[in-house]
Amino acid sequence: MRSVIISVGDELLRGEITNSNASYICQQLRKIGLNIQKVITVGDDLTAISELVKAEIKNNDLVLVTGGLGPTADDVTLTAVAAGTNSRLQTSMEQWKHIQTIFQQRQIQLRPENKRQAQYLGQPVPNTNGLALGSWLDNQHSVVIVLPGPPVELQAMIDLEVSPRLKDYFHLQQSLLAQSLHFLGRPESLLMTDLAPVCHDFPQFSVTSYVKPTDITIRVVSKDEHANPQMMDKLCAQIIAKEQPYYLGSGDHFDLATTVVKLLKQRGNKITAAESLTGGMFQSTICSVPGASNVFDGGFVTYAASAKEKLIGVPVDVVDQNGVVSAQTAAAMAEGCRRKMNVEVGLGFTGVAGPDALEGHPAGTVWLGMSRAGHPTQTKQLRLPSNYSRQQIRQLAVQYGLQMVYT
Ligand code: ATP
Ligand code: MG
Repeated sequence: MRSVIISVGDELLRGEITNSNASYICQQLRKIGLNIQKVITVGDDLTAISELVKAEIKNNDLVLVTGGLGPTADDVTLTAVAAGTNSRLQTSMEQWKHIQTIFQQRQIQLRPENKRQAQYLGQPVPNTNGLALGSWLDNQHSVVIVLPGPPVELQAMIDLEVSPRLKDYFHLQQSLLAQSLHFLGRPESLLMTDLAPVCHDFPQFSVTSYVKPTDITIRVVSKDEHANPQMMDKLCAQIIAKEQPYYLGSGDHFDLATTVVKLLKQRGNKITAAESLTGGMFQSTICSVPGASNVFDGGFVTYAASAKEKLIGVPVDVVDQNGVVSAQTAAAMAEGCRRKMNVEVGLGFTGVAGPDALEGHPAGTVWLGMSRAGHPTQTKQLRLPSNYSRQQIRQLAVQYGLQMVYT
């Protein structure tokens, strides 16, 4: 089955808005086992839209057109699709009455062009969040669906009307399988090179990677609806086993801070931190998790050496002798904050957020320290790319700090 989305709008071509409607449609239709092969963006141009529709209906089973169903002069989509499919525009008197009532209630003057939002092709598709009707048109070899541009309208119509009808219409059986696996600490290219032999044994799945600000996500998806869920689980298990030291967790809504808070709660542990380059970002990340109070009482932002001494008792000598960007300082910060708060886990963050170097260390040089009750203090050095922004370096330092607690 071949499917295409045609996104209409000059503002998309100008780069003023991103095409989140196409992303939403692709995501939601995969859940009913339907893969979109192509997304095309076109401006608010009657001839361009109608020619595109005319060409695409020849090669596709499904053509989904979005945007440009408003009452203004630049909204030409429905007229263009009517021309491209050689079909006749119809008007829903019921919808026209509804539009008139809404305008009366809001005391807005009705104009003749408002009637255009009651027009449709084939069969109308109800719009619970707006005035423009959608269209469902059976066009010989393909189905053409036209939906309005505003995301709140489009999303509700996809979920309530379009997805269920497409499922029946094309006799779709099973959703396509998908899983996200999250890793940190191994470069993307090496990760994918490691995984190539594993992926080779599972040709019915595609394995791709994305660099996210907080991890590298490996996406495993079935290529068609015939893939076996057990094979998918087996593939994911092999990927995780191969990259175990770097594995954080799985799922589309995975959040490492949530996992760490849960883990600390299970262990009955509390955590604190002394933060230099991250300036409280680690503590803020912990606090963003509901229920953080079970595991976090408070902590320290110790930016200057004097604050490290005053707030958590890091001897000035430690910084003087080893430098502020050093394993010794990170360890002393972790131990100092843990002692002050009298909790089970203390983390220290020190390093160079950039853009300038510090003590001869390039931006991206970070030392983490972790002090845990009953364990020797651990330290870890990060060498993050020096061209990363301050924000990226600080965010990654936080993420590696969370990983240190987790593993
Ligand atoms: P309206 O009645 O609001 O004019 P419409 O159906 O004519 O609705 P458009 O004019 O194309 O739709 O877009 C309305 C608004 O919806 C845009 O300003 C934009 O904010 C949003 N929008 C349109 N297309 C997309 C898209 N592909 N992705 C995300 N947002 C979009
Ligand atoms: Mg519009």
